[in-house]
Formats: sequence, C-alpha cells, structure tokens
Amino acid sequence: MAESETFDVAIVGGGLAGLSCACETAKAGLVTAVFERGAECGSKNVSGGRIYLGPLRRLLPEFWRDAPFERLVARESVSLASGAATTTIELRADELAKDAFASHTVLRAKLDKWLAEQAVAAGAMVLPESRVDRPIVTDGRVSGVVVGGEEIPAHVVVAADGALSLLAKAAGLNAGPKPERLALGVKEIVTLDPGRIEDRFGLEPGRGAARMLVGDFTKGLPGGGFLYTNKDSISVGAVVRLDPLSTGPSGPESHALLDALKAVPDVARLLSGGTTVEYSAHVVPEAPFERTALDAPPGLLPAGDAAGMVANYGFTVRGMDFAVASGILAGQAIVASREAPDRATAAREAYLRGLEGSFVLRDLAAARGVMTFLHNPRLYGPYPQAACAAATELFRVGPDGRPFAFKPALAEARRGLSAWRVFRDLWRARKL
Ligand SMILES: Cc1cc2nc3c(=O)[nH]c(=O)nc-3n(C[C@H](O)[C@H](O)[C@H](O)COP(=O)(O)OP(=O)(O)OC[C@H]3O[C@@H](n4cnc5c(N)ncnc54)[C@H](O)[C@@H]3O)c2cc1C
Repeated sequence: MAESETFDVAIVGGGLAGLSCACETAKAGLVTAVFERGAECGSKNVSGGRIYLGPLRRLLPEFWRDAPFERLVARESVSLASGAATTTIELRADELAKDAFASHTVLRAKLDKWLAEQAVAAGAMVLPESRVDRPIVTDGRVSGVVVGGEEIPAHVVVAADGALSLLAKAAGLNAGPKPERLALGVKEIVTLDPGRIEDRFGLEPGRGAARMLVGDFTKGLPGGGFLYTNKDSISVGAVVRLDPLSTGPSGPESHALLDALKAVPDVARLLSGGTTVEYSAHVVPEAPFERTALDAPPGLLPAGDAAGMVANYGFTVRGMDFAVASGILAGQAIVASREAPDRATAAREAYLRGLEGSFVLRDLAAARGVMTFLHNPRLYGPYPQAACAAATELFRVGPDGRPFAFKPALAEARRGLSAWRVFRDLWRARKL
C-alpha cells in the first residue's frame, strides 16, 4: 500500500476517549479515521453519568463550552439502605458549583453524538457501523487495523474500544475480559417533568443532584446504586462486581438488581410517576488500574476504559474524565511526533509522558486502595443495616417517651457485628 494511503491515525471506538483524540489529531491536519461499531456514536455507550470537569480544565478545547450537559451538580448525597430504611448524608455547598470543581450530569447518546460532530468539523472521518476485527501486527508493531476483512494501514492506532477492548487483548495487554476484573452496570432513564425533579430533589431550576446508595438491595454483592438528575429525566442504575454474579445461580439477574434498587422507598418516591424510556447494561473495569495496561507494542496507544482507566470510590465513579483526558493526551502525543523518524515509538513515549504529567495516572494510583477496600462485603449489608438501626433507635420516641438513647443505638448498631472486624475495617479505612 502506498505511503499516501496510510492513515496518520486509526482510532478504534467512537466513545469519549476515541473522539477526544480525533478532535486533537484532525484539528492539527492529520488524516484521522474513527471506527465505531455502533449505528452512531453514543448508541452503544452507557454512563450513569456525571462528568467531572475540574481535572479537565487545562486540557479541554474551547468548544467544550457548548457541550450538551444536562445539569450542574449542586447537591450530593450518599445513602445507606437497609430494608425500607435509608440513612443519608447530604452535601449542599456553593463550592460544588464553582468552575474549578464543577461536575455535570450527561446523557451519553447526546454527548458522544455532539463530540463526533466536533471531530468531523475538525476534519476527522467518523465511520459508524464499522467494527474493527483486529489490529494488524507486523514484527511486534501495530501498523493498522482490519475492518470487515479489509486492511487499513495507519501510522498509529488508538485503542479506545472500551472495557472489553479487543485491541488490548490482541496486543497481549490483558488476557481478555475476566469477570473478577469487571463490574456490571445497569441503568434506566426515567423521564419526569423538570419541575417535579427539582421539587423532589430540592433543587434550584437548572441545578442537578447526584445520589449514591449502598445497601442490601445488592443482596450482599459489592457495589451500589446511583441516581443522577438530567434536564427532564433521572438516570437510575447500579454497578456491581461481576464475579459473584457469574459464579452462581443465586446471584441476582441485572433486572432484579435494578428492581430492588427502585423498590427502596426513598428511591421509589423520587421516581414515582416517571416513565422508563431506556434500559441498558454495560461492563465497567473494576480492578484497580495497572500501569502494565499501557505496555502496548509500538503503534498502539490504549486510552480510556480500554486501558482500565476507571476509579470507583464507592460514593462516586470516575471514568469519563479519564477517557477524555487520555484521548486528548494520545492525540497531542501523535501530533507532536508527526515528524519523528519512528512515529509509532515517539508517539508512545510522548503519550506516557503526557499521562505521567497529568492527573490521570496520579488519581488512578490514588484510587487503588479505595477500590480494594470496597471489596469488603460488610459494606453492603451489615454496615448499612447497623447505620439504619442505630439512627432509628436514636430518633424513635414511643408513647411512653424515653430517655436519651445513645447507648441502645450503639448496641443496635453493633448487633451481629464483631467488634474485632469493625476495628479492623476502621483501621484499614484510616489508610485511604
Ligand atoms: C452504568 C455505568 C455508570 C457509569 N457512571 C459513570 C459516571 O457517573 N461518571 C464517570 O465518569 N464514569 C462513569 N462510568 C464509566 C464511564 O462510562 C466510562 O469510563 C467511559 O464511558 C469510558 O469511555 P471510553 O471512550 O473509554 O469507552 P466507551 O464509552 O465504552 O466507548 C467505547 C466505544 O468503542 C466502540 N467499540 C467497541 N469495540 C469496537 C470495535 N471492535 N470496533 C469499533 N468500535 C468499537 C463502542 O461501541 C463504544 O462506542 C459508568 C459506566 C457505567 C457502565
């Protein structure tokens, strides 16, 4: 194939990572192709979702000012659920709305479609319904991709094909999707009048809320639920670790999991009268990020979920900001190495330097301890139960009245929990 027919960059996956990369390379005049297996960008993407813009501020191009965000998150809460009871910690703070810390709820079908339009406007070729079959590997280097049986040569290939990345597997970066390294995310979008959303979540017009829930609705599985308010809908969903789900028939089916979350009275009240317009399920990288996920052969740059760039802190999930940042950094690295004699190697080195100099690797490393801590099954049954039981005991005053009841509340909280285990969990938590 003649040199002129070789793409400067072939990007596999038209999600946030791939499209962010395409905007950078196309804007710099590089011949850029994005292969997306879905009917259009966004059609295969599922996200809770809330994107943190704070860490991205130094990286985002100007056009992101017009991104189709849903609501600016101004209210955060975390609930522990046990049976019909919930104990909630809530934060309302002006700080949340400041530019430096802003996060917005998003609907990926809209956001990815918009970002694809930006990439096309910058000059990229975005090719929907184009599933990449495999990378072309020659002498230990990736030199293109195969799409529908046709070989497409490229100087650099970006693996932005999500959590089940075929390219990462083909390049030997992982052994393929392993249940213990993945979580299952299920989500519904429930439409509701904007005024009702604001009333129910106690929001000013246009402002949004994010709510996380942990409790017995996951039937003891490590994971939790979420609610995000969009303009005229609520995203409700749950993310649970996949390995227990896949090993026994007793694990709840994904629908049952979502139904159990929606049956928590506090959640049911927020959704009541709404109409479910979309249901989707997707996997999420669950294992703490490993630096080896970047040890790709020359010619291949893994970005976003394809490199396992997700941090799950329990009270919030971050993946979208890492996807956008790594996509932009991959794009910048490819542009910077366009004149290098060995573009593939130069791009790889520049990409790693970019990641090291950004928040991406630092934040992913910092999340490792939390993600390991969150595998503790006591967080998903006994502790929410203890919190709800203690709070009930504390606030309950019967027909005969009662004295201040801190001791019984404590006793209630400790019922069924070994003091040693609680101590050990607290000891581990202090290191986070
Ligand atoms: C239920 C749920 C809730 C979440 N909530 C949040 C949240 O609130 N905040 C947050 O920051 N993150 C959240 N995440 C994580 C976040 O969605 C991901 O980290 C992010 O979408 C990663 O972006 P990406 O571009 O790397 O991958 P993706 O968005 O998965 O995009 C990959 C793209 O590649 C395409 N593709 C795959 N294989 C091929 C192929 N062979 N050929 C061509 N195209 C291919 C896919 O169709 C897709 O469009 C959540 C995830 C889930 C599942």
